[in-house]
Amino acid sequence: MSQYIDGRRREALTGTRDVVRDPSTGEVVAEITLAGADDVDAAVAAARAAFPAWSGATPAERSTVLHALAGLLEAEAEDLAQTESRQAGKPIRLAREFDVPGTIDNTAFFAGAARTLEGQATAEYSADHTSSVRREPVGVVGSIAPWNYPLQMAGWKVLPAVAAGNTIVLKPSELTPLTTLRFAELATQAGIPDGVLNVVTGTGPGCGAHLLRHPQVDMVSFTGSTRVGRTVLEAAATTAKRVHLELGGKAPFVVFDDADLDAAIQGAVAASLINSGQDCTAATRAIVHRSLHDRFVEGVADLFASVRLGPTQDPATDLGPLISTGHRDRVAALVDRSRAYARVVTGGTIPGGELVRGSYYAPTLVADAGLTSEVVRDEIFGPVLVVLPFDTDDEAITLANDTPYGLAASAWTRDVYRALRATREIRAGCVWVNDHIPIISEMPHGGMKESGFGKDMSTYSFEDYTVVKHVMFDLTGVAAKPWHRTIFTGRQDGGDR
Ligand code: NAD
Repeated sequence: MSQYIDGRRREALTGTRDVVRDPSTGEVVAEITLAGADDVDAAVAAARAAFPAWSGATPAERSTVLHALAGLLEAEAEDLAQTESRQAGKPIRLAREFDVPGTIDNTAFFAGAARTLEGQATAEYSADHTSSVRREPVGVVGSIAPWNYPLQMAGWKVLPAVAAGNTIVLKPSELTPLTTLRFAELATQAGIPDGVLNVVTGTGPGCGAHLLRHPQVDMVSFTGSTRVGRTVLEAAATTAKRVHLELGGKAPFVVFDDADLDAAIQGAVAASLINSGQDCTAATRAIVHRSLHDRFVEGVADLFASVRLGPTQDPATDLGPLISTGHRDRVAALVDRSRAYARVVTGGTIPGGELVRGSYYAPTLVADAGLTSEVVRDEIFGPVLVVLPFDTDDEAITLANDTPYGLAASAWTRDVYRALRATREIRAGCVWVNDHIPIISEMPHGGMKESGFGKDMSTYSFEDYTVVKHVMFDLTGVAAKPWHRTIFTGRQDGGDR
């Protein structure tokens, strides 16, 4: 039963059937039904009905159930890792050591953060008034998530929203709905009231588009491609909904001439291959000082050759498949086209043998590409790293910023002044120094430019999921207030109460 509405599982009213496949083998993992407009309507109605009580719950009450949810996730960590690995084609090591613990920590963080929400202190900013600020939930949130980190994305969408007192209808990707559904069930077990968290599993143009335009949805929160993000903005405009967008990326990885080359090579391999490169913050453009360029290319190519592709259930496997053969073939076609104008140093191949059943693609390093070529400019979302040389620091910063995206970047240098300049001048929502990828619950994640706006994780996310309300009390107690004379001069004797 693949919909979770008003605290229980049910089948979609459409009756349309689909399957979830393991991208590493093509085998069916689960059968699901796809939600349509009626299911979305039911989920939104449940979220709307749950809103008054949940928004009125005390921070301590919200915190208590989120703490309980963190405990239930912890108790089920291995099962969640197994399901995440199978539906998304993740190596089990990544699911066990990154996806699941990250979600548990996020849940524990928001359990605490739920009690920190506050407005500005009450004060008199005019002699005749006392002002205070209330921070209130936005209402019913419609969220849409991608397939690359299904459980983590469920956490990023649900936790700040419900911690702040909103209710939510979440649509995971139809390719990877299973751990999101389980997350919702565990939330109910933890004590989150029915209707606060609803999950509809269906296609984007089908149930996703209906959710975005629903008149009873107050805010839309979307993580996915910049292309679909534009349609989210258009849809939200119809009823002026608040919008939170986490979109694509093409992260620069800048290696200055004083960098620790070995650290940069190791870092580039890990940061470009994480989740088979299907990570919005993955290192995709290595911008390397010309004096280090050739040694960097050689070092990365050597390490790429040592990366183990294999069955996702094997803890020794480093790199899993891409999400589908369709996506893998798009990545392969782009790399093949690049052979006409660039040098594919290593990779660029579809592995054979046992792996042919899955949608695997070899780690691929591309050099000597022109700055306007698609391999340099487009988000590829696969295990493909492009290397570009530079001569001066100015050029490095210009190249780093030469992209419509602005999600993440890194600077590799032992010079503190260079590091400070890079962190100041690179236009991205996160800039790492001598590392690339780590995220942490306390710190915000979100983009600039065409990577979107709004923050996930951290208490900054409350800016997106709450409305700040000004409340102003009159202190004079008089009928004819002094400021009335700017409008009419009638009776100005004050008229004390
Ligand atoms: P996608 O944009 O194709 O789909 C994302 C979600 O939107 C899915 O649930 C899909 O069903 C839905 N959708 C598709 N068309 C829709 C429509 N017309 N109306 C409503 N919903 C629609 O992205 P994807 O392929 O699932 O994920 C990869 C993309 O996500 C990459 O671009 C990646 O950079 C981005 N991403 C960004 C972040 C971030 O934090 N910025 C995190 C993860 C992924």
